Amino acid sequence: MTFQLTILGTSAALPYKNRFLSGQILNVHDELFLIDCGEAAQFRFQHLGIKHSRLNHIFISHLHGDHCFGIFGLLTSIAMMGREADMHIYAPEGLETMIEAVFKATNYKSPFKIHFYILKTDKNDKNTEGPPSDYSRIFEDEKMTVHSFPMNHRVPTCGFIFKEKPFPKNIIPEKIKQYNLTFDNIKAVKEGFDLKFKEPTMEGKIIPNSELTKPPLLPRSFAYCSDTTYFEPILPHIEGVDLLYHEATFLDDMKEHAFKVGHSTALEAGLMAQKAHAQKLIIGHFSARYDDLSPLLLEAQTQFPNTILGIDGQIYDVPLVRFEENK
Ligand SMILES: [Zn+2]
Ligand SMILES: [Zn+2]
Repeated sequence: MTFQLTILGTSAALPYKNRFLSGQILNVHDELFLIDCGEAAQFRFQHLGIKHSRLNHIFISHLHGDHCFGIFGLLTSIAMMGREADMHIYAPEGLETMIEAVFKATNYKSPFKIHFYILKTDKNDKNTEGPPSDYSRIFEDEKMTVHSFPMNHRVPTCGFIFKEKPFPKNIIPEKIKQYNLTFDNIKAVKEGFDLKFKEPTMEGKIIPNSELTKPPLLPRSFAYCSDTTYFEPILPHIEGVDLLYHEATFLDDMKEHAFKVGHSTALEAGLMAQKAHAQKLIIGHFSARYDDLSPLLLEAQTQFPNTILGIDGQIYDVPLVRFEENK
């Protein structure tokens, strides 16, 4: 059961040498979710061997070009490659108008249906405060949920948290034989119930669920936070996240400038991971002023040692662990 992040690009504002613009693919149980779509996203799909056919949902954090100008090329190219299935796009208000304008100006009609969903980006809307709620949920299927939350940037911007749903309990095979369990018994035990015997010889006997099952596998989570200043109101949304991607556009000696232009420093990204009790932090969205990224990494690690640099094209797996092995 895959839960894997591929980074398409880590560059802020401008592409830089081997750093492309923002875009990530989250693979959850072999379904792909695209998060941001900077220019050249479709090239990155080709470079990295990513199949569009398994992509049905696109999440756009905000309407700055480095996060969404790749969507026109991506949508029209996958159409040329024969796509017919509907596409679902989640973005702040305005993206649908942008896409319609480009399609209209080029006399283009998409052969597949595109569904647009407008994100709630108002930081003053009390209902968007965390933890994740029905109000902030933007996607749900049998295996996972996605919630969005407003962040603090120069234009309306959202972060996202992707969470697996809890797994059913794993029954210990020997117990099935030992207690001669029926199909209904097994189903109830997997759902977390104790086993109650109705047979006259065993009347009243109860075997606790914990004796019949292995500790559960822990659902995994990934949060995407770019672009934003250091913004503590997002903490309840990302509390305890397994993998956090947080932007770190500048070093902390540019803290005032970072705040002014709606961005974070590497130190602030580390602090956010620390306060959110994240398991692991990936920093990215690096300014083109930094050729060598190691000072950004070292700075984030002063606050949160389990930080790594986001590297274009790299794949990060979130491992599946049982309750007893974790934390
Ligand atoms: Zn950006
Ligand atoms: Zn931006």
